[in-house]
Amino acid sequence: ADGARVPALVIGTGYGGSVAALRLAQAGVDVHMIEMGMAWDTPGPDGKIFCNTREPDYRSYWLRTRTKAPLNYFLGFPIDRNIPRHTGILDAEEFGGITVYQGRGVGGGSLVNGGMAVTPKRENFGAVLPSVNADEMYGVYYPRANAGLGVGTIDPAWFDSTACYQYARVGRKHAQRSGFPFVFVPDVYDWDYMKQEAAGTVTRSALAGEILYGNNHGKKSLQQTYLAQARATGRVAISPLHKVTSVAPAAGGGYAVVIEQLGTTGDVTATKTVTADRVFFAAGSVGTSKLLVMLKATGALPNLNDEVGRGWGDNGNVMCGRANHMWDPTGALQSAIPCCGIDNWAAGGAFAEVAPLPTGIETYASFYLSITNNPHRARFSWNAATGKVDLDWQASWKQPSIDMAKTIFDKINAKEGTIYRTDLFGVYKIWGDHLTYHPLGGAVLNKATDNYGRLTAYPGLYVIDGSLIPGNTSVNPFVTITALAERNIEKIIATDL
Ligand code: FAD
Repeated sequence: ADGARVPALVIGTGYGGSVAALRLAQAGVDVHMIEMGMAWDTPGPDGKIFCNTREPDYRSYWLRTRTKAPLNYFLGFPIDRNIPRHTGILDAEEFGGITVYQGRGVGGGSLVNGGMAVTPKRENFGAVLPSVNADEMYGVYYPRANAGLGVGTIDPAWFDSTACYQYARVGRKHAQRSGFPFVFVPDVYDWDYMKQEAAGTVTRSALAGEILYGNNHGKKSLQQTYLAQARATGRVAISPLHKVTSVAPAAGGGYAVVIEQLGTTGDVTATKTVTADRVFFAAGSVGTSKLLVMLKATGALPNLNDEVGRGWGDNGNVMCGRANHMWDPTGALQSAIPCCGIDNWAAGGAFAEVAPLPTGIETYASFYLSITNNPHRARFSWNAATGKVDLDWQASWKQPSIDMAKTIFDKINAKEGTIYRTDLFGVYKIWGDHLTYHPLGGAVLNKATDNYGRLTAYPGLYVIDGSLIPGNTSVNPFVTITALAERNIEKIIATDL
């Protein structure tokens, strides 16, 4: 409520925020979490909380009047459609050179993501987080994060037999025939539930094309894991549809946090100020970076250091499809949850996920999301004229990612006698190079913050999300975001409280 005082305020309810809230509450601290998105705990008129990727409706996008599907064309035809403006679940946030997809709601990105829960290879960790002790991460915090998230791996025997992963088996065959290492990728989806979906004994979710706009069953989002545990402590309150717009030192100590309450069309219905002894920025790489850059430039937190806003990367995301021969059908029924990848990181700088195209019809297409070792890093800066934060990413900076992905797919195409699909991202456009699902950086660990996420110019202010990671994790990022948050909050609780 307006005028309240709280010991710890967490901005955002994604991975970093959920870890912070749970561990603080377990240490006896009362926590208030502020989330700009909706609670996603109430069914809509169709009886479902989340809508399907094939039928986007008012629930699908954050304050847009037209969908912006990542795969925006099919057979050369645009597939986007008009929708009512609503505080929906997926934000396609547009900057000059890139569209950044993010989850909005209680659970952050865990609501919309594929649940692929990948721990980087240890040999790559030095480049991911250079100032962090790898022994501690691989001995303690990665295992803790994997346990807390409920990570599991597909039963290989079921993988070999189920119709819904035929597309992935085609992906495996083509990878192996070209000599690339094929790997199973763990996920937070309940694999036993998926088996029952395939057997027809439970309501389908992954097998009904649910993914980008939320899963109604099967996926263990943060609402089922960290946040459920946090709520069970009785010490964590969550305010959905509340957006933090300012944080500044308060006269009597602590920080004054200004919060706008939103209606479901994005209108501001109330403005509140609360005082917090400690504030944890967990608004995601883009959300936290935008807040910190704005607060530094506008004089609310002028002593934040000059690293704030720097070191942002796209995790080298790039997408492509391949057209298979008629004897390699990929299946009309495709699980929306990816389960495997092609690892060419060491030789070619690319790790490619064999991704579904859950259209419900046979497409003879193989689809891939590659994570690549793109060297470019962008910077957020305050634009006083527009009153907004800009990001200086250039569209042409995706070229190294395309080149790295080609180390895999040019070879596979040559071996199989196949070609790239040119109809998935536009008219005659091969590469999905306009977007990222994996924003990272902007408040980099040991640069913008100390080595545990403290904003040292302001005691009691912390960063604890993907903005700490300098732009690339070599695999999908949320396990690393979670593990780093576990490491940092343990130190903060031990030394600062
Ligand atoms: P987030 O999870 O983004 O949480 C930040 C939260 O803060 C959000 O809920 C946001 O609404 C809220 N917020 C922002 N600003 C404010 C504000 N001012 N006031 C109040 N609240 C605010 N990663 C993987 O590892 N595996 C995958 O399979 C995978 N698939 C993905 C698929 C898609 C479509 C997308 C979009 C992402 C995917 N990711 C995946 C990425 C992963 O979801 C993110 O890396 C992760 O969610 C980032 O965690 P975070 O804690 O940094 O922030």
